[in-house]
Amino acid sequence: MRLSALALVIASVIATEAVTTPMPIERVIRAVGPHRLKGAVVQGFQRGSKQLGWPTANLDPKVFTTSLDDAEEGVYVGWAAIDGHGGGAVHKAVLSIGWNPVYQNKERTVEAYICHDFDEDFYGAQMKLLICAFFRPQADFKDYEKPFEALIEAITTDVAFGKAALDSDALKGFREDGFFAAS
Ligand code: ADP
Ligand code: MG
Repeated sequence: MRLSALALVIASVIATEAVTTPMPIERVIRAVGPHRLKGAVVQGFQRGSKQLGWPTANLDPKVFTTSLDDAEEGVYVGWAAIDGHGGGAVHKAVLSIGWNPVYQNKERTVEAYICHDFDEDFYGAQMKLLICAFFRPQADFKDYEKPFEALIEAITTDVAFGKAALDSDALKGFREDGFFAAS
């Protein structure tokens, strides 16, 4: 191979590496549990989920120190009710379990975006959360050209995907679960 040809090959390898695009996010519903968790809504890291348009109610970690031991980190769907807020009704929820790689969190978290327009915040209120399906592992957006935009787009798609999944015959019945009727 002539030197100039070799240089071309090397240049193209470097260029290919430079423009490597991240793997697309795949979402596939897989039933789990269900896990029935009940506890207070606590403060999270206040790192902007509300500013991003997707507030997440963080569940008191005391509630899942043992019960979620085998649960894979990732994004899940379920049903949630907040005592004394939103009419106490059962709403769709899209939630994450795990350590959020975007922020290098050190602690495990369970945090749920509840698909309802609440009139006020509800820190300290009791949340009942029934987790019934997993649909994607955590993703790291740092390799994207615009990580923040990619994160918002992923959450927006997660919520649309999650809401539709909860309408399926396999998952919609959990809304009437006896867990929500019990005190
Ligand atoms: P934090 O880091 O404290 O969890 P967020 O920015 O994630 O803060 O906002 C979460 C808070 O927003 C919840 O604890 C709750 O009081 C409030 N909130 C209002 N509407 C919603 C909603 N639809 N889903 C989840 N939390 C909501
Ligand atoms: Mg939160």
